[in-house]
Amino acid sequence: MLLIGGCGAASLVDEAGDTPLFVYDMNIVERQLQVLRDAMPKELSLHYAVKANPHPGLLERMVRLVDGFDVASGGELARALAAGMDAAHISFAGPGKREDELVAAIDAGITLNLESEGEARRALAIAEKRGRIPRLAVRVNPDFDLKGSGMRMGGGAKPFGVDADRAAALARSLIAAGADWRGWHIFAGSQALDAEALIDTQAATVGLAARLSNEVGASPPLVNLGGGFGIPYFPGDQRLDVAPIGEALGQIMNARPDILSTSKFAIELGRWIVGEAGVYLTRVIDVKQSKGETFVVVDGGLHHQLAASGNFGTVVRRNYPIAVANRYGAPAAEEAVTIVGCLCTPIDKLGDKVSLPAVAEGDLIAIFVAGAYGASASPAAFLGHPPALELLLG
Ligand SMILES: *Cc1c(COP(=O)(O)O)cnc(C)c1O
Repeated sequence: MLLIGGCGAASLVDEAGDTPLFVYDMNIVERQLQVLRDAMPKELSLHYAVKANPHPGLLERMVRLVDGFDVASGGELARALAAGMDAAHISFAGPGKREDELVAAIDAGITLNLESEGEARRALAIAEKRGRIPRLAVRVNPDFDLKGSGMRMGGGAKPFGVDADRAAALARSLIAAGADWRGWHIFAGSQALDAEALIDTQAATVGLAARLSNEVGASPPLVNLGGGFGIPYFPGDQRLDVAPIGEALGQIMNARPDILSTSKFAIELGRWIVGEAGVYLTRVIDVKQSKGETFVVVDGGLHHQLAASGNFGTVVRRNYPIAVANRYGAPAAEEAVTIVGCLCTPIDKLGDKVSLPAVAEGDLIAIFVAGAYGASASPAAFLGHPPALELLLG
């Protein structure tokens, strides 16, 4: 039997009451954060990107483990505050912030990472109406991107942030309007497994922050360097070693230009912190044959774990790591099987020609690396099946 956080997968299903089920092991989250603390410069703040996994229990635990939360909607902001994170350590990025979201952010006193001049205008108008001094940072669309990144967020035309050549003018106008200018937010990409590329990006980001600050003529209180640390999903993916990244960042920070001498620095990570802490457990409903191929039909699917189906930001579909939880470690059968979910669409495929021990009705299938962009990043309403259960361990 597969053990998750020291507990058998089947007894976890009993405890939760049913499948499909996401299990998150906080021991793995804590281990990741310890590795990160040990690797990174002591004065660097570690922020958690809530959108990776906004489970309320997980957020409550996370409040004591990281230095800040980055949220991407009014809903995530409400969850961050409910979990007990201090408003002074919450920032809110993301395009298309609605009026009510801006009001909630300004009333709570969190930092808005502004995505455009229009958003700045709306935020300043709301703050004035409510008699508040808003905390505003400028999200910059950098003129470089994170190489080897699974999802590029900078370099070229982007809906995120203000182009680097207009960012200083916007910051100046915020200061002139009497806002509490908090500094820069520069996020260049996601899911990178190349330490050298991440180091190059961090150096370029600090350089850009210094150049823009000199243009403004003011030192930014905070430079949020983004993140982009990736995790291995597929055979051949090399685990990212964060030690050299921390060492290089320490050197970059020590050698930073004078204008940044009093600035604080932060990185914001989602998937690297929680991705490997989650397992998706789903039960086999049917095993059927079609033209010589074996299909294993499970009670879960892409409506819970879209990413494993290959339909969340991937170009080529590849299998996430999969096991038969109740026959963990048993030798593989000769024939590979295809694991499909219970939705009537050919894209609901969770494993293509997977080598597994012989699978039978009632078996429990485990799909790993389900801690980030799982339950909350999947189209749960599609076909009207119930949402997956979630269980927090450790
Ligand atoms: C999504 C996002 C993150 C988190 O990315 P991960 O790949 O999960 O680490 C961080 N910052 C911003 C602005 C984001 O949009």
